[in-house]
Amino acid sequence: MRAYVPSYKLISPGSLSETLNVLALDDGTWKPFAGGTDLMVLLESGQLPQKNYVNIRNLPELRGIEVSDDQVTLGALTTYTEVQNDKVLREEFPMLCQAASETGGLAIQNRGTLGGNIVNASPAADSPPALLAYDAELELVSKQGQRRIRYSSFHTGYKQMDIQPDELLRAIRLPRTKASLTHYYRKVGTRKAQAISKTCFAGVGRMSAGRITEVRIALGSVAPIPIRCTRTEAALVNKSIDSETVATASAALASEISPIDDLRSTRNYRLKVSLNLLEDFISRLAQTSIS
Ligand SMILES: Cc1cc2nc3c(=O)[nH]c(=O)nc-3n(C[C@H](O)[C@H](O)[C@H](O)COP(=O)(O)OP(=O)(O)OC[C@H]3O[C@@H](n4cnc5c(N)ncnc54)[C@H](O)[C@@H]3O)c2cc1C
Repeated sequence: MRAYVPSYKLISPGSLSETLNVLALDDGTWKPFAGGTDLMVLLESGQLPQKNYVNIRNLPELRGIEVSDDQVTLGALTTYTEVQNDKVLREEFPMLCQAASETGGLAIQNRGTLGGNIVNASPAADSPPALLAYDAELELVSKQGQRRIRYSSFHTGYKQMDIQPDELLRAIRLPRTKASLTHYYRKVGTRKAQAISKTCFAGVGRMSAGRITEVRIALGSVAPIPIRCTRTEAALVNKSIDSETVATASAALASEISPIDDLRSTRNYRLKVSLNLLEDFISRLAQTSIS
């Protein structure tokens, strides 16, 4: 059933401070509206209980991609198209660009924002695994000031997050590294395009003198939240790559993901594909060690 549109309100405050004042008015009466690509689907299907929205799309403080020596800062309103067009992101954070290129179609890529993807908090969203593997940090702002948290501690349960009703996600920070890393991102869905993932794997790693010296792995669609797989990482770091390492890491991954049966896929398929992707990632790492 479609929603009754006149019962909804959308206001456009002229500045960030006005927006933060509105968000602080009553606990959760007003919610941010960015690209609207998630919110409009809920509206159209009559599943949007929240009635009052603050348009944040015109706030310059939430826009732009800034590059400094040690990090890249993306405004929360950065679109998937902007991610793909940025030279530094393409060179240093290719998994985020790949996730952006595999998100929806062109219209969604032009309109949908990274901030909206994060706060919508779908376990099947495509950019979170890349952001987790790159160890992103989030900057939140409210009338009280600003705070920063590691993205890996942001999602606390299904659709639950460390964000207050009066807070806006302002920016996403990605730490830069001089090290040469292997980047491995795979979204597995029913089709190549316009499909929600059945499992989504993002891994970065580095080998030195035959051992894995650095590794970060994250998965989507295999738990109530996008997860950083720290046990799997621990099974790999400082190890040389052989069948025993692969077996130990696979056992660790199987123990820390909790895929389910749903209308898109089955628990067994998700588990099997996730383990295959882990093996493929490890074999890519091994190849960089040889070359
Ligand atoms: C046809 C279609 C295909 C899609 N395909 C994919 C896909 O392949 N992969 C994928 O991951 N997603 C996909 N999506 C989902 C959606 O496009 C993304 O999640 C998008 O990034 C949401 O961003 P938005 O700006 O449109 O969010 P909105 O719809 O504006 O907001 C989403 C939620 O985030 C909150 N919010 C937004 N910005 C902020 C902020 N700065 N601070 C605090 N809260 C905020 C809003 O209050 C709302 O709760 C698809 C959607 C459609 C309609």
